[in-house]
Amino acid sequence: MARDTLVLCALETTAYPYPSRDRQGAVASHDGSLAENRSLTVAARFVATVPGHYSGLMLSEESISSDEIGSADRRSILGRSPEIVEGYLREMNEPAFRARQVIEWIYRHGAGEFSEMTNLSKRLRQRLTDDWTLFESQIVNRAESSDGTVKLLLQWRDRSTSECVLIPDGVRRTACISTQVGCPVGCRFCASGIDGLQRQLSAAQIVEQAMRVQQLCGREDRLSNVVFMGLGEPLANFDATVDALRTINADWGLNVGARKITVSTVGLAPRIRQLADLKMQITLAISIHAPDDDLRKQLIPWAAATSLDELIDAGRYYFQKTGREVTLEYVLLAGVNDQPDHARGLARLSRRLRSTVNLIPYNPVPELPYRCPSPSAMQSFLLGLREAGVNVHLRRSRGLDIDGACGQLRRREALKR
Ligand code: SAH
Ligand code: SF4
Repeated sequence: MARDTLVLCALETTAYPYPSRDRQGAVASHDGSLAENRSLTVAARFVATVPGHYSGLMLSEESISSDEIGSADRRSILGRSPEIVEGYLREMNEPAFRARQVIEWIYRHGAGEFSEMTNLSKRLRQRLTDDWTLFESQIVNRAESSDGTVKLLLQWRDRSTSECVLIPDGVRRTACISTQVGCPVGCRFCASGIDGLQRQLSAAQIVEQAMRVQQLCGREDRLSNVVFMGLGEPLANFDATVDALRTINADWGLNVGARKITVSTVGLAPRIRQLADLKMQITLAISIHAPDDDLRKQLIPWAAATSLDELIDAGRYYFQKTGREVTLEYVLLAGVNDQPDHARGLARLSRRLRSTVNLIPYNPVPELPYRCPSPSAMQSFLLGLREAGVNVHLRRSRGLDIDGACGQLRRREALKR
C-alpha cells in the first residue's frame, strides 16, 4: 500500500474555548495540506473547527486499524464533483460522457456497486471498483416506527456509528442526517453529546447517509427534504457540511432543492455568517431553547461563548444575505423553559429578526433528568406565542417508539456493548 508521509506539526494543547462534558484524545495542529493526504484522512479525526480557536486532528490507536488503512487506498466517490470524476476517467482515455454515466448510476439509479453500471465496460467497472469506494457503511441496526419513520444505525470502517432517519409525511420524504460521530457540545438534555465527540464525518459520509435514506424510499420515490439534525454540530464540521450540502443540492447529485434543506445549529455566530456569505438558499435553524443567556448557558455549554444578542445579529445577517427567514428551534422541557414568562421572552427575541419559531416536544432520554411538558402545557406555550404575533409551529414527535431523538439509538447500542 502506498503510504504518504505524515508530517504532524507541533502538538497544540490550547484549551478549548467551549466547556464540554468530555473532551479526550490527543490534539495536534496540522499543516492544511495534510487534509489531502489519503492515509491521514482515515487515520486522523478532524475535530471541531471554530474560527479563531483551533483546528486540529485527533488521533487514537483504535482509529488506525490495519484493515481500515488497507481499504483507505480506495477513495470515496460520493460527493466528488463531475469534474473530478471526469478528470480521473480522462487519465484512462475514457470520453467525457463516461463521467456523466457514472454519476447518473450513483445518484439517479441508486447503484450500490460499480458492477451494476451495465453500460460501462467490464474492465472499467473493475477499475472503478479497485480505485473507489461507493458505499462505505454497513447498516447495523434498522428500526421502523409505527408512524413509518425508519432509523438506520450505520457503522463506518473504523467501527464508529452514526444515525440517519427517514421521516415520511404525506408525499414528503425527509432524511435526517448526522455530521459528526457524537457531539462536542454536550447539551444537557441531548443523547448525542453524552460521550463527547468521537470524530468528524467526511463530506462523503454525510452524503452517504442521505443516499442510504434515499435507498429506503425505493427507486420510484425521491427524497424531498434533508435536515442536518442528526448527531453532531454541523457548523463545527463546516467544510464537510458545505461540501455535502452542495452534492445533496446539485442537479447531478441528489437534486434536493436548497429551500428543502435545513441546517440546524446550536449557534456558532461566525460560522453562521460564513454560511450566509455562501448565499445558498438553504434554511438555517438556530437552536435557541431559552429566552435568556443564563438559562441558555445552563442547557447548552457552548452558549458560554456566544450570547443571544450575537446569535440574533448573526441570524439577521443570514436573512440579509440570503433573504431566507431563520427558524428558531425551541425544545420544550417541563418545568425548565416552558413557563408563560419564557414564552414572552421568546416572543421578544423572535421579533428581533425575520423568523419562524419551531417548538420541539422533548423526546426523553432515559439517562437524563428532563421530561416533556404535558400536551396542554405545550398548547398554552404555543398559544402564548401566537397571541404575541409570532409565527410558530409545534412539531409532531416522530419515531418515539424507536428512540426517535438524535443520538438515542446509537447510545442504546453503545450501552449494550
Ligand atoms: N447540533 C445541532 C443539530 C443537531 S440536534 C443543534 O443542536 O441544533 C437537532 C435538534 O434536536 C436541536 O434543536 C436539538 O436541541 C434537538 N434535540 C436534541 N435532543 C433532543 C431530544 N431528546 N428531544 C427533542 N429534541 C432534541
Ligand atoms: Fe450536539 Fe445539537 Fe445535541 Fe447539543 S443538541 S449536544 S449541539 S447534537
